[in-house]
Amino acid sequence: MAIKLGIIGCAGRMGRRIASLAHEDQNFSLTCAIERPDHPAQGVDLGELLGLGKLDLPIRATLASKPDVLIDFTIPQVTIEALGAARKAAVPTVIGTTGLSSEQLVKLKEASEDIAVFHAANMSLGVNVLFHLVGQVARALGDDYDIEISETHHRFKKDAPSGTALELARQICAATNKDFDSCITHGRSGAQAPRKPGNIGMHARRQGDVIGEHTVAFSTLGETVELSHKAHSRDIFARGALRAAAWLVGKEPGLYDMLDLLELKK
Ligand code: NAD
Repeated sequence: MAIKLGIIGCAGRMGRRIASLAHEDQNFSLTCAIERPDHPAQGVDLGELLGLGKLDLPIRATLASKPDVLIDFTIPQVTIEALGAARKAAVPTVIGTTGLSSEQLVKLKEASEDIAVFHAANMSLGVNVLFHLVGQVARALGDDYDIEISETHHRFKKDAPSGTALELARQICAATNKDFDSCITHGRSGAQAPRKPGNIGMHARRQGDVIGEHTVAFSTLGETVELSHKAHSRDIFARGALRAAAWLVGKEPGLYDMLDLLELKK
């Protein structure tokens, strides 16, 4: 039986890709397409919006039927409201929305007492494997290896360094008992240029249409080890969210992330 899938933010960049990929995948059946009440696509058939032909699935502002699982890629406030509705309807929910505040993260935890909630700020399986590996490598190589993180993104990206680069640093700090707030050096210039022992260097490049590249280099006198991830398409995030949705169906209430799915939790 195909998994009945609902998408919140179905007309957004990620929502559209998730819907299109789910439509091609026989493991899923799209049953709910949700958008903000004043969105011009309200009432429009989702298939027609996506150029897939009629799917008899009008875009609505609320949950009209109960899916097996919901995927939300919207904005933090909407995510929290949607999670309230999902909790009431007892529907497991995958959240890809980024930028949740600490109070909003507490709300995720509370909702996960009643339903299964999956949250990953980066849904790429490869990046999550990298999160796991950098901590292990940093711990194994020890203090005499200088760690430098560099990331490259397209010219339109608003934030720097990327959330993924910061998470790589957080994983290294957690694995090596470093204090994240005091050990990151962002770029180097002038009097601040000499390397401080134990610090993690962080470098952001912005060029062209690069989707996202991250490299963590560990160097000592005589050798360098590099771990890299390159995203070729934004579809890696949509595919990761669909994989998370299929995995979440039938799970006990709780708060899960990609390391749970990949069975990489310590
Ligand atoms: P987007 O702006 O293209 O899409 C968001 C959609 O949410 C819009 O269509 C908007 O109309 C809709 N929305 C707003 N209010 C709503 C409401 N009340 N009910 C239903 N829908 C509503 O943005 P995007 O690029 O698709 O990104 C969405 C989020 O996902 C962002 O937080 C982004 O950072 C995050 N993101 C996460 C990953 C990941 O791997 N976790 C990857 C890419 C993007």
